Amino acid sequence: MRKYFIQTFGCQMNQADSEKVNMILLQSGFMKAAKWQDADLIIFNTCSVRQKWEDRVFGLVDDIVKANKKAGKQKHVFGITGCMVRKTGMNKSYLDEDTERNKAKKIEYIEEKEGIYNHDDKLFPRIPNLDFTLRIEEVKYLNFILSRIYWETIWNDSKFDDYLKSKQLRENNFSASIIVQTGCDNYCTFCIVPFTRGKEISRERQEILSECREAVESGAKEITLLGQNVNSYGKQFVDKKLWNEEKSKWNDGIETSPFWELLRDINDIEWLDRIRFTSSNPHDMTNDILDSHFDLDKTCNYLHFALQSGSNEMLKRMNRKHTYDNFKAQVEYLRSKDPLFSISTDIIVGYSGETEEMFQETVNAFKELDFDFVYIARYSVRPGTIASKIYPDDVPDSVKAERWHTLNNILLESIQKRNGLMVGREEEILITGERDNQWFGRTRNFKEVFFEKTSEETKVGDLVKVKILEIDRWVLRGERV
Ligand code: SF4
Repeated sequence: MRKYFIQTFGCQMNQADSEKVNMILLQSGFMKAAKWQDADLIIFNTCSVRQKWEDRVFGLVDDIVKANKKAGKQKHVFGITGCMVRKTGMNKSYLDEDTERNKAKKIEYIEEKEGIYNHDDKLFPRIPNLDFTLRIEEVKYLNFILSRIYWETIWNDSKFDDYLKSKQLRENNFSASIIVQTGCDNYCTFCIVPFTRGKEISRERQEILSECREAVESGAKEITLLGQNVNSYGKQFVDKKLWNEEKSKWNDGIETSPFWELLRDINDIEWLDRIRFTSSNPHDMTNDILDSHFDLDKTCNYLHFALQSGSNEMLKRMNRKHTYDNFKAQVEYLRSKDPLFSISTDIIVGYSGETEEMFQETVNAFKELDFDFVYIARYSVRPGTIASKIYPDDVPDSVKAERWHTLNNILLESIQKRNGLMVGREEEILITGERDNQWFGRTRNFKEVFFEKTSEETKVGDLVKVKILEIDRWVLRGERV
């Protein structure tokens, strides 16, 4: 039996995408290997948001090539998917009609799929040993590609007719991540997603609901809905030209948005305890979605949405469609309804043209909004983005590093302050793991809590009550009550 290994980089969407690949490969007769050294097939599910993730992929590729050379073994079949890939394709050796192997074998059972038998992706010249590239939205072609590479039918009974329909093989039963929307129409100048994932599409509500019910029947206590712009779920079901008009109705409470309606229906699922969603875009955030955190009892008091900069001029240059004031009003609204409401965000420092004054506006945002967590990135040019074509990378690395440290120090203070609000409270924790004889898990507002194991029978995936006793840097410590 062939073994495969998949390594995932980046966000929760990528984690969920890897679960789709897991499902396809296991149903096709592959077995999962614990490390790449034991695998026949290695897949990297990549992320382009940060330079360091791409560097890590190239580093691992080198390790594999060196290890194979040293062992003198036949190389692994090796493919890349995720955000580093622009075009699904294969190494030239599988396409060349004149090679002895290709002449000798015919794979008549595989219908030639127009467009996928090419080696056009820019990764091929950079990584000569690469066997295939796969746009994750074309995951249905994985078996066609592997059949061509192994020269035998690699197939399974499931019908993977498109990316959104293909099933995930979940890593755990108690917390299910379900993709409801993919792609992006926003074209932020620093971002590659609209070019890799394409236009925004949403999945049919009934299909999502049946997947949610299945997950809960298999033990899920928490469901996280995923999408690049999860809060504009359903845009394709509304006339796009009318989207902004519709938004004002959802803001005024005259009607409800497709995303709120999806949340309402999931909220009705018996035995489900928690609903989360990520990632939201501030400019598509409507009042009904903000209120879902209070009106729908299973929607947790935590929201991740990306500010990116505290400077409106910077936001304009990034082609973000919100202003700092819009974002601030949304945060203040949530915290006015629930002071423990957790907010996390993404920030880029040192973006093209960021002056000291503009940076100070981001510093101000950190001080005003007391974030519970922030993913702070130092800007690096991402090939293929709009910014890579029109903006210079003109902030020196030393300044980016200094700005990063300034924000990180303020963040550490705000985390301490926000975590301090939790001390003395009894909170419900969903246990997600164990380390050094302690359980750890998350509160409803996404705070990580560690607590000693007791004699009581407990396991990962249980919901337990814990009293929060103290802050320990980024996390909380408590005891079972
Ligand atoms: S909203 Fe902007 S940052 Fe988010 S995926 Fe779309 S283009 Fe990228």
